[in-house]
Amino acid sequence: MVENDAKDKKTKYQKLEEKLALKKKSAWALFTDKQKKDAFKLCDDYKLFLGKVKTEREAVKEIEAFAKDKGFSQIGNVKKLIPGARVYDIFKDKNAALIIAGKKPLSSGARIIVSHIDSPRLDLKPKPLYEDSGIALMKTHYYGGIKKYQWVNTPLSLHGVVVKSDGVKVEVNIGEDLSDPVFVVSDLLPHLSAKEQNKRTTVNIIKGEELNLIVGNIPVADDSIKQKIKLAVLEHLFDKYGIVEEDFVSAELEAVPADAPRDVGFDRAFVGGYGQDDRVSVFTSMEAVESIKTPEHTTIVLFYDKEEIGSVGNTGARSKYIEYLFGMILEKLGEDKFSHTVQKSLINSIALSADVSAAVNPTFKSVNDLYNSHLCGYGVALEKYSGGGGKYSGSDASAEFVGKIRSLFIDKGVPWQAGELGKVDEGGGTTIAVFFASQGMDIIDVGVPVLGMHSPFEIVSKADIYSAYLAYKAFLGL
Ligand code: MN
Ligand code: MN
Repeated sequence: MVENDAKDKKTKYQKLEEKLALKKKSAWALFTDKQKKDAFKLCDDYKLFLGKVKTEREAVKEIEAFAKDKGFSQIGNVKKLIPGARVYDIFKDKNAALIIAGKKPLSSGARIIVSHIDSPRLDLKPKPLYEDSGIALMKTHYYGGIKKYQWVNTPLSLHGVVVKSDGVKVEVNIGEDLSDPVFVVSDLLPHLSAKEQNKRTTVNIIKGEELNLIVGNIPVADDSIKQKIKLAVLEHLFDKYGIVEEDFVSAELEAVPADAPRDVGFDRAFVGGYGQDDRVSVFTSMEAVESIKTPEHTTIVLFYDKEEIGSVGNTGARSKYIEYLFGMILEKLGEDKFSHTVQKSLINSIALSADVSAAVNPTFKSVNDLYNSHLCGYGVALEKYSGGGGKYSGSDASAEFVGKIRSLFIDKGVPWQAGELGKVDEGGGTTIAVFFASQGMDIIDVGVPVLGMHSPFEIVSKADIYSAYLAYKAFLGL
């Protein structure tokens, strides 16, 4: 049989299957040579971003610098927004928004991508410093859902701010430069673990109160002093930063992995590094909005804090900031800003919750329903719903909206896959989607699959990072 005959014998169904086959192949196989090159180039920039941005405050700073560089003006300084105008807003140094005014009124709805800039880490306690057994240590309080044992014996850097009693804010960033010292939580040696540690349940192998950072060893010379090493550390902090012990009460200091992001694999197909949940979405959505000129609908790319602890607080996605921002944009567009119009604008908006999902780990496949799971390198993950058990506390996008996004991805050649986080009864998780959905808008989770999520070294395929960029760009142009 010659090839042409074979083609002719294909049924209508087979032809349709072929058209939709995009989702069934590795994204690497779908990309052109140019796209592969672009994917690697994008990820080189991404690694620089990821290595530089390790806290929510640093993310906001970087987003602001990016905005200024790409022609966005601070919204407060702009009198009137005309179609194509690019503005940004910063809220409490922990939220950011990049906005491009559309041709249509905002009340007809915006195109929103929302991601989060916070990542799991170890925060210093309000009274962190103590001395014990010849070592000065600092007590930490973990932030977000970590497997605590992963955070021991790994170099950590310290980032954040200290507000002194006179109101002066001191910025701290120590441990990133190779000449800087780092900090570390030391685990128990295996030789002495038999009784103390080996019988513990997995979750308690390292307990919260055991996450104590090593910060010093050299005592002051004065023999009349009881805690000589602690004092020496305090003297160092005073000399270097002008801070005293009580200043830690009004500080936000975060211990994060000090390592720089690296390529992973002989083929360099993966990016490994800390904080990819969710800064991979932050970076790709920033890059995507940059390419938008004058959209039909106003484009808003949002970056939130506090997702990892439930989107709570005044800088989390449950806050009133979104209503405030919409009111401000309406005012600048010259539309009325009655609360009804704000709500109408929110209800008419559509959004992507740009957050990572789990990739199948070949060593632990039992936690996945392999018919409904995400593979590394198979494109951006489209998750209709989140939640735990019977979809509790999750967001569930409508079939109509999922259909719209699916068609868009097929239309624009975006490699994508559909699935769930894991097995139904295995656990679960949610994202910002649920809080934005409560505003009445349609929203769905679209993000990259990750290996080792919330660990100090998360792994993401570059094909998926590039697919996410393509997906976000396609969506913002809707
Ligand atoms: Mn996340
Ligand atoms: Mn997370």
